[in-house]
Amino acid sequence: MGTVNYDFSDETVIVTGGTSGIGREVALRYGEAGATVINADMREEPKEDDLSAPTHKAIEDAGGEATYVETDVSDPEQVGSVVEAAREFGGVDVMVNNAGIYRDAALTETDADEFDQVMAINVRGVFAGCRAAARDMLDRGVEGSIVNTASISSEYAQLGHTMYDASKGAVMMITRVAALELARHDIRVNAVAPGIIRTTFGQGNPDVDEELGDGFLLDDADLPDLRGQDIEPTVPMGRMATPDEVAGAYLFLASDDASYVNGHLLYVDGGYQIL
Ligand code: NAD
Repeated sequence: MGTVNYDFSDETVIVTGGTSGIGREVALRYGEAGATVINADMREEPKEDDLSAPTHKAIEDAGGEATYVETDVSDPEQVGSVVEAAREFGGVDVMVNNAGIYRDAALTETDADEFDQVMAINVRGVFAGCRAAARDMLDRGVEGSIVNTASISSEYAQLGHTMYDASKGAVMMITRVAALELARHDIRVNAVAPGIIRTTFGQGNPDVDEELGDGFLLDDADLPDLRGQDIEPTVPMGRMATPDEVAGAYLFLASDDASYVNGHLLYVDGGYQIL
């Protein structure tokens, strides 16, 4: 099978949630493609049980340039500061709004504060990233690209997923509305919709690690077990994916090869959405 070597040299890419999982692999791939990468995450070092080495070191080892800016994406001011920081490198060309958390509970057990927390990170964070990048690109009069991390949950409901699916549905619509509004300014907005990817997902936010335990966690015996083994048969390809199988989609959507792709949700899900 062939591989694609993208060239993002002279471009500055911000990846939110670039310390682990999908975001880390995306940051790494942009770095390998020559971009200056800014990892905007709440934590610089991966957790001990993470699958990865620190993002920026890996990028530097690959010959790229990387910077870490501690950022809580639920705070629009902090997101604005990251975009501002990118000016030091010529300004943001590609904004990847990827940071997100996973929570599940049966609807009747869903806590309103937890609901707000998921929305603050997964929805307000993506809104803030789109808005800050768009404002900056418009101010500078440059073209650019925004790629959000949606999910199969953007369009497909799952038991116990009120919070998460609602948040990812919103990401899909933010992507579409932003694409409409920015199209005439040559700023394209798209989203990658990953399926079930092997990451430390669910444990990404240090504030909630303790309470979350081991990630894909469901206490309610009536709900399906989402912790890996039982979920794989539900995927047409019969397996989860690794983050490196998803990362290329983020480079494609921001590349010139995708110059007429706009407002699109690109599924990378082993065929899950067919079902
Ligand atoms: P992950 O937990 O490995 O990575 C998430 C990263 O986001 C972590 O580095 C974490 O520190 C960071 N983060 C969390 N809250 C943050 C905040 N408030 N501000 C800044 N950074 C924050 O998880 P992942 O699986 O790589 O998830 C990345 C994205 O992919 C998420 O948006 C998630 O919803 C989405 N996604 C994941 C899967 C999957 O199966 N893993 C499937 C579909 C979509």
